[in-house]
Amino acid sequence: MVIVLRPHVSAEQTKQVLTAIQEGGHTGYQAGPSTIVVPKNDAHLEASLATLPQVEQVMAIDSPYPLASRAFKKEDTIIDVRGHIIGGDKVTVMAGPCSVESLDNLLEIAQTVKAAGGQFLRGGAFKPRSSPYSFQGHGEEGLKMLAIARDKTGLGIISEVMEPDKVALVSEYVDILQIGARNMQNYPLLREAGKSGKPVMLKRGLSGTIDEWLMAAEYILAQGNPNVILCERGIRTFETATRNTLDLNAVPVVQSLSHLPIIVDPSHGTGKSAFVRPMARAGVAAGASGVIVEIHPTPAKAWSDAAQTLDFDEFRALVDDVERISAALTVNRPLVHA
Ligand code: PEP
Ligand code: MN
Repeated sequence: MVIVLRPHVSAEQTKQVLTAIQEGGHTGYQAGPSTIVVPKNDAHLEASLATLPQVEQVMAIDSPYPLASRAFKKEDTIIDVRGHIIGGDKVTVMAGPCSVESLDNLLEIAQTVKAAGGQFLRGGAFKPRSSPYSFQGHGEEGLKMLAIARDKTGLGIISEVMEPDKVALVSEYVDILQIGARNMQNYPLLREAGKSGKPVMLKRGLSGTIDEWLMAAEYILAQGNPNVILCERGIRTFETATRNTLDLNAVPVVQSLSHLPIIVDPSHGTGKSAFVRPMARAGVAAGASGVIVEIHPTPAKAWSDAAQTLDFDEFRALVDDVERISAALTVNRPLVHA
């Protein structure tokens, strides 16, 4: 169950509720100033909590991820990141290099993203590489370059954080923290990202089920951070023709289960530049709130993920496609409700 407290309750009044929960044989977890989660439903306790003056509402939600669930929030979550909207009717376009390389290269990319109508510049400064001998990212220097690109273009910036100890540093620079596929179940990292107060884009793990992914999102929400964006980036299947299998079922499935916005990453989802544009189209047609793609002026020379990286012309064509597909959808996003 979820207990919603009245606005501006005192710490003492909150403690009274937690004590009542404990006396009823349960544990309450405070998720922000006015929300308490009790993992199990108990009709007797619900009735008695509802009589407390500081309690606004008791919601009997039977879900392993109550705060992420549609039962908790019927309306779609719409996130406003420095004036750039994620969720709702328009598609959000996030694009940039896999890794931040040099300032000149990044500025050229940022200007292209902006001119094409994108809202966010992506770029890895801390890179999760399969080999310890591959380029690991510029670290804080890369974050500084992203911040310069934001100042010059007005784009929002998103970059990955891999370690709990680096959340504070990355948060100083970025507008959205990216949690990568390999870290979907890194619970200490999820908790820190939740505490940062920054919007968080949570990528689906390579072998994460939708339930596990939503429970990972719950870790962030449970810290009182409501701004979580889910990103379907492909899962590992028996298929080897593509790097991953972009699971577009996840888009309507997530929308039926959760109020959180979901976007798709056809770059990592396919691993091959030729397939990125068709799958970006498909993701938006399925109802995704946006796309995130890797682009570079000379993809073959990209320091990481070259094979899946689009050149500028391909990127502009992709933006044109997704905007037209989005406009052609006559019903509001998401297309599916529970
Ligand atoms: C990336 O966005 O460059 C990245 C490493 O993504 P993922 O975590 O989905 O592999
Ligand atoms: Mn990449």
